[in-house]
Amino acid sequence: MELQRPRGTQDILPGESPKWQLVEAAAHRVAQSFGYAEIRTPTFEHVEVFRHGVGDATDIVEKEMYEFTDHGGRSLVLRPESTAAVARALLQSHLFAELPQRLYYMQSHFRYERPQAGRLRQHTQFGIEVYGAGGPLADAEVISLAHSFLGQFGLHNLSVRLNSIGDAECRPAYRGALVEHLEAHREELCADCQRRMTKNPLRVLDCKNSGCQRVVSGAPRPLSYLCADCKAHLEGVEAALLALGIPFARDGSIVRGLDYYTRTVFEIQYEKLGAQATVCGGGRYDGLIEALGGAPLPGVGFGLGLERLLLTLEEEGLLPPPAPSIDVFVAAIGEELGPEAMRIARQLREAGLRVEQEVLGRSLKAQLRRAQKVGAARVVILGPQELQRGVAVVRDMNSSQQEEAPIEDLAARLGAAVPRD
Ligand SMILES: [Zn+2]
Ligand SMILES: [Zn+2]
Repeated sequence: MELQRPRGTQDILPGESPKWQLVEAAAHRVAQSFGYAEIRTPTFEHVEVFRHGVGDATDIVEKEMYEFTDHGGRSLVLRPESTAAVARALLQSHLFAELPQRLYYMQSHFRYERPQAGRLRQHTQFGIEVYGAGGPLADAEVISLAHSFLGQFGLHNLSVRLNSIGDAECRPAYRGALVEHLEAHREELCADCQRRMTKNPLRVLDCKNSGCQRVVSGAPRPLSYLCADCKAHLEGVEAALLALGIPFARDGSIVRGLDYYTRTVFEIQYEKLGAQATVCGGGRYDGLIEALGGAPLPGVGFGLGLERLLLTLEEEGLLPPPAPSIDVFVAAIGEELGPEAMRIARQLREAGLRVEQEVLGRSLKAQLRRAQKVGAARVVILGPQELQRGVAVVRDMNSSQQEEAPIEDLAARLGAAVPRD
């Protein structure tokens, strides 16, 4: 029997990890350039974090959580998303004393879903959360951060689709109109939604069932029901995006069905074969902290799936070609020279070089083939005669030119020759 990884998971093999490192490094760099600090939460949480922080009647909580009981009888769940977990951590650590809090995370989420391209049962999300800033500038900052992150990869024609789903002031009127529409199409809704629409009709907006999505696409749009404050907030976000030169358009079809979402919701799309494809989604959730038992506190953020992004960058040919993994290969003629080769390799590493050395005692020809394969620009060849004279041969792999150099000069010489970033 050959053991297999679980369905919906992936191994990131050595050939794949450089592109992950590239995207992760970009996420750290961009988030930090906006003054955001990284937060990491536990892989598993008490189930209540998501029951309260995501909502009982959602697909995530009802169907998709990896829930288990530990040996102490606690009900735990593998983190299906990070917003509720981050909010829990902030509450527990009393970080709300200092506002605004600007945070980013990059961590795995676990959901029991039907696996598809770019959508795995364990997937990785880059996200940010801003707490304690209720005005439109915070929304614009969040959108701008996502736009900067995506823009640096060269994705074509990024555009922000913007909507507002109102607040406690104007949502009741919208909810009334929505319920009326849903009632009229009750037979077309899935069983879950027929049940949900009496408890919380907004959650129908998030259902993935195609019949429900059809009904939702014809439903009244929250934009038509906005109160004056919500309108002003949306216009404030738009004014800031305009000042930043970030293209945007209002799109009444973008919604979030969770109670704690308020006002701004957005998606960032790029042009794909004439159509638009979404790579990032976010919004404002001024009611979340209260839902978790804290004092009211505004929040806004986004989540961005890295598997989906990498797939997109690959399809669009936007990933750079693999870079060499090694600068210098230290070859030794004869296994007895191994320890000296190892000493030289260590000196070169201390000079900042990436160095591989021979450990298999292969022929020089085989060692040069290996050096070629890992992309080493230079090979240090150590032979018995040279060693007696305190020198080694340095071979330039591009020109095949070779020259002798004193062993004690190698680090300074080769360290200076390779550009470091
Ligand atoms: Zn449904
Ligand atoms: Zn309103």
